Amino acid sequence: MNSDNPIPQEAREYSLAVCTLASGSKGNATYISDGRTSILIDAGLSGREIQRRLTSRGLDPAKLTAIIVSHEHGDHTRGVGIMSRRFKLPVYINQNTRSASAEIGKPHEIRGFECGTTFNIRDLAIHPFSISHDAEDPAGFTVGSNGTRMAIATDMGIATAMVKEHLKHCALLILEANHDPQMLETGPYPWPLKQRIQSRTGHLSNADSRKLLHELQHEKLQHVILAHLSEINNTPHKALEEVSRALTRCRAQLTVADQYDSGPVIYLK
Ligand SMILES: [Zn+2]
Ligand SMILES: [Zn+2]
Repeated sequence: MNSDNPIPQEAREYSLAVCTLASGSKGNATYISDGRTSILIDAGLSGREIQRRLTSRGLDPAKLTAIIVSHEHGDHTRGVGIMSRRFKLPVYINQNTRSASAEIGKPHEIRGFECGTTFNIRDLAIHPFSISHDAEDPAGFTVGSNGTRMAIATDMGIATAMVKEHLKHCALLILEANHDPQMLETGPYPWPLKQRIQSRTGHLSNADSRKLLHELQHEKLQHVILAHLSEINNTPHKALEEVSRALTRCRAQLTVADQYDSGPVIYLK
């Protein structure tokens, strides 16, 4: 396999490598690589912290190829500008998100995309699709290479029929499981914020995520990462307990992405 990145012995044969560097309201960033092309979807931590988390998993920040931005919220964009300038990375972002992302500053290079239109970064085929969230033009993504596809869909109030269509047939899914409805209901958030989270443009609950995954599961689904968990209104245990009930027809591994540490690098065959 043609590779810029060092590949661990145990993972010599893989199609895609995926690592969640952070997930949650304090910052989101996901590393995806086919061994030759390595991207970040969102960079919502400081540049220094993103570098630290990549390095801690044996991933070289200097080998990154590009950054893709899902939407303008700070927990997804905080480190985009600095990482782009530091490593001379193009930033793929749609027009409305760009207009709303003052925080990014002036990146090394901007490349546009449109939700619904596939684009390529070398051998990676990226398909951005619209999601229902309170941002200007928020996107989820499928990323495909070497015949394998993964998807990331967080920050959405509902999973529309179109979103479900895109999440089908993926080997790995990064799915939002934001809150436990009861914890949210009885928790300390002010009422308007509770309403926002539960709305069609808010965040998926554990139960929403379970229902979605129950529909999406298929034999070739290898891994599901629950993401964007609320620290106040959820626990990893509750999310795993609820969503694991969805997996009745496949043996996918179910894990939770962490806010404070990168996850292991997952190698998809
Ligand atoms: Zn977010
Ligand atoms: Zn958001």
